Amino acid sequence: MSENHRVVVVGGVGFLGSHLIDRLIGDGHWVICLDNYFTGHKRNLAHLHNHPRLETIRHDITEPILLEADWIFNLACPASPIHYQYNPIKTIKTSVVGALNCLGLAKRIGARILQASTSEVYGDPDVNPQNESYWGRVNPIGIRSCYDEGKRCAEALFMDYHRAHDVDIRIVRIFNTYGPRMAFDDGRVVSNFIGQALRGQPLTIYGDGKQTRSFGYVDDLIEGFIRLMEYTGDDCNEPHNIGNPGEFSMLELAELVQELVGSNQPLDHKPAPEDDPMQRRPDITRAKRNLGWEPTTQLREGLERTIEDFRARMRSGESSSYSRRRRPR
Ligand code: NAD
Ligand code: UDP
Ligand code: UDP
Repeated sequence: MSENHRVVVVGGVGFLGSHLIDRLIGDGHWVICLDNYFTGHKRNLAHLHNHPRLETIRHDITEPILLEADWIFNLACPASPIHYQYNPIKTIKTSVVGALNCLGLAKRIGARILQASTSEVYGDPDVNPQNESYWGRVNPIGIRSCYDEGKRCAEALFMDYHRAHDVDIRIVRIFNTYGPRMAFDDGRVVSNFIGQALRGQPLTIYGDGKQTRSFGYVDDLIEGFIRLMEYTGDDCNEPHNIGNPGEFSMLELAELVQELVGSNQPLDHKPAPEDDPMQRRPDITRAKRNLGWEPTTQLREGLERTIEDFRARMRSGESSSYSRRRRPR
């Protein structure tokens, strides 16, 4: 791989962004991280403090910005339902206006640009597994639509900038991803279950717990990002699913987390959230064929590493980072 790309990572102090920056810095690139610190935290990049090839800028991507770069990764957007539903209008602005600004920037400077899209574009799917040609089943006016439709609109913008202005785009549809550095108070199921099990609290199951998800380990995802960014085949501008095809119910996940933590708490059943998808599993045929990519970390091993990270952070006294007082406008 060629060294010394200038890379902009928007949303770079978040969970996935910080792992991506670790990889880019490790590969010898120069990185500019942009973030408004809504759900991301400085501690995620503290180990790179003063690194000569990393610059961090507090910037809200709903505002334009002038920079020079070879690659842009757009990861800006709160990803957990409690975060993206907190200020849904801001979530839509971040996905739509943020994508527009990133694309305007990419067009002006001729940069290649990757959009962190999501399996949520498939909504509550009526086919399983989902491949990239499935158009999805999304409620356009529900409480998840600020996220789902924002991401769908961002994909449309990416494709239109590609068709109209020949911008060199990549779109990755990310399935549920977990790993070290997930925020304790994230609200997503893996961080909830691990936090609850380690604190000796009951694990909260929303609905009957039979709904399924496919959980991908963060290192596998980042490998997929880099391979897609470097891929230049005929269909490189088409969306690519990146996820682990292993499919688990929330009851199965709870049982596995309890076993790995060594806890035996009861389950605390709560009502299912509105529009909660019942199933989700990626068809990764395209990524396998084009990128030679497939996940290498299975759920048990990835959870063990994540539990280890949560334990260490709890021992070091890290507290929750998310505060409603810091809600961005
Ligand atoms: P995260 O919340 O940890 O990271 C998002 C980052 O974007 C945070 O650092 C946040 O402060 C920043 N941000 C939010 N709004 C912004 C704005 N207006 N301007 C600048 N920065 C802003 O979440 P994550 O899990 O790291 O997700 C990263 C991206 O990947 C998101 O776009 C998300 O939609 C996508 N994604 C993640 C998953 C997953 O399972 N983790 C699944 C599908 C898609
Ligand atoms: N933009 C930006 N940085 C740039 C170039 C553009 O933030 O280097 C923003 C620009 O302000 C606009 C968006 O990207 O809001 C789309 O830009 P484009 O040139 O495609 O459209 P136009 O400015 O003509 O609406
Ligand atoms: N969930 C759960 N208990 C929790 C948090 C989430 O049972 O403490 C369920 C949630 O209802 C959903 C699944 O776990 O069916 C995944 O939720 P998450 O928010 O992690 O991801 P998403 O719904 O966005 O895929």
